[in-house]
Amino acid sequence: MSTPCRDANPATAATAALIPAHAGSYALWLVAAQRRRLTIGSLGALAVQPGFYVYTGSAHGPGGLRARLRHHLGRTHRLHWHVDYLRRATQPVEIWCSDDNAVSEHAWSALFAATAGASLPLRGFGASDCDCPSHLFHFSRMPDHAALAAQLRAATRARRPFLRFSAKEAVLPVAAPVPRA
Ligand SMILES: [Zn+2]
Repeated sequence: MSTPCRDANPATAATAALIPAHAGSYALWLVAAQRRRLTIGSLGALAVQPGFYVYTGSAHGPGGLRARLRHHLGRTHRLHWHVDYLRRATQPVEIWCSDDNAVSEHAWSALFAATAGASLPLRGFGASDCDCPSHLFHFSRMPDHAALAAQLRAATRARRPFLRFSAKEAVLPVAAPVPRA
């Protein structure tokens, strides 16, 4: 099943084209510029704060990570996932992903929850089908990727390289495989 969405900015389509069309797990980093109150479906109200949000998920359907991230990077009018609502008040910044068959989103959520500076903005966000408190965390400053990459990779037990993409809509996308520590 492909998810219909509209790539409003060519940069987001170009970024999505770089992402492997393979099953995998991902951390989507979003930035919010200002305070805003959102209703997240039936989950409740989210008081969006300036700063960075990281949302963890995994994609194991047709098109894998590429199809899922194309959806997240684009603008959608079909609000399916909790993060679709949050996308209305945020812009994508980066994608960290691992294109292996392991489902790492829950381990990554626990890792982000334990990272210095993390706060849990809305209990149950992205976690309707699991026991995690949330799959969304807020940081006033984006944590250093290098410091977290090794821990994320260990939590993933990934055999594949850990990938990092810039997702800023205003700049050209870059793909930089993270060197193994
Ligand atoms: Zn979970």
